[in-house]
Amino acid sequence: MGITNSQYNRIMRSYEQRQSDGRHQLENRRREIYGRFPEFARIDEKIAAASTACARAMLLAPDGSGEKTAPDRQTGPYEKADPTGQIEPGEKANPDRQIGSGGALSAPENEKTEDGRAVPPEVWLDRKTGTPSAAALRGYIRSLSAKKTALLAEAGYPKDYLEPHFYCPDCQDTGYIGTQKCHCFRQAVIDLLYTQSNLKEFLDRENFSEFSLDYYPTRIVDRVTGLNARQTAKRALDECRKFVETFDTSFGNLFLYGDTGLGKTFLSHCIARELLDTTHSVIYFSAFRLFELFADATFGRNGEVPPDLEQHIFDCDFLIIDDLGTELTNTFVSSQLFLILNERILRRRSTLISTNLSLGTFADTYSERVFSRISSSYTMLKLIGDDIRIRKKLKNG
Ligand SMILES: [Zn+2]
Repeated sequence: MGITNSQYNRIMRSYEQRQSDGRHQLENRRREIYGRFPEFARIDEKIAAASTACARAMLLAPDGSGEKTAPDRQTGPYEKADPTGQIEPGEKANPDRQIGSGGALSAPENEKTEDGRAVPPEVWLDRKTGTPSAAALRGYIRSLSAKKTALLAEAGYPKDYLEPHFYCPDCQDTGYIGTQKCHCFRQAVIDLLYTQSNLKEFLDRENFSEFSLDYYPTRIVDRVTGLNARQTAKRALDECRKFVETFDTSFGNLFLYGDTGLGKTFLSHCIARELLDTTHSVIYFSAFRLFELFADATFGRNGEVPPDLEQHIFDCDFLIIDDLGTELTNTFVSSQLFLILNERILRRRSTLISTNLSLGTFADTYSERVFSRISSSYTMLKLIGDDIRIRKKLKNG
């Protein structure tokens, strides 16, 4: 992956942070439920005690007959040691605890059924031997778990409310699936190398659900297409959505052009958000920064050039080059641009370019071969209208 040990450690620390946040959030949800339904806490205590007894019964089984199978264990950061996954971390099953020596294990004797009758000890005692058996205890635990599920559902909570919620369910926020790095690790490397964390903040605000066609006036009409600004934006929006929907099944590229402040960057963020959410690797660059990095790498300048820059730029699932035309254009930039576009087309990796330049100026600014690559492999999407940023300000002000 071409990262240093300290960069690797930084990424792993962010995974640890994510796990710890996840545990806190789970703990808060649990507290909320315990607060609202004290019965829930009591059921959990019973489950914990029964789990302890279950673990002990398994250890004490004389010949291990029928009790040899290890209980199902959850793995991952929230690994638990009890057979049902109900015991809290730090509250692991303790096989030394004496069965029947008071504590919550005697609960079945005191427990009342819903209609007020005492629950008989047979619930968790082995029917044949009259001693606690792991199988009987497991059955008891299952019935308690079912009770919890029913309680949650009754109160209108989602089924997984008291389950860990992972940022990346595939690796359970560990960064690894088995011994292999998870796909989210790849994006973590990109985020770190290209300090893209600010992109994430944008993406919370700039996504498809926030995109509004209302800012595009109907009174401005494109002379060539005959479509007004709103219709033109609608077409661009539809194309961008289609692009996302077919991202994994068909190869495409987008070229967004039009005056400044018409929502081109916003649209590129909408797409980035969707693709990041569906585990694709995304790199966002302003053209200025991209070519500055390439120049640093080529001319050995002092700037901080991420290792494997070319590999990331050529290979990431989706590359956004924003504001092309604002960089210092020269032959070096033009040839680097061609290299990037060409490599990505060969590798069938999608790219989005946005520019304030008109098509004519664009063709004049970059080489013929750049323009021909773009016109043959990119869907051209134009935006027209008033400066949306101004309109938004006026509306909010
Ligand atoms: Zn992952």
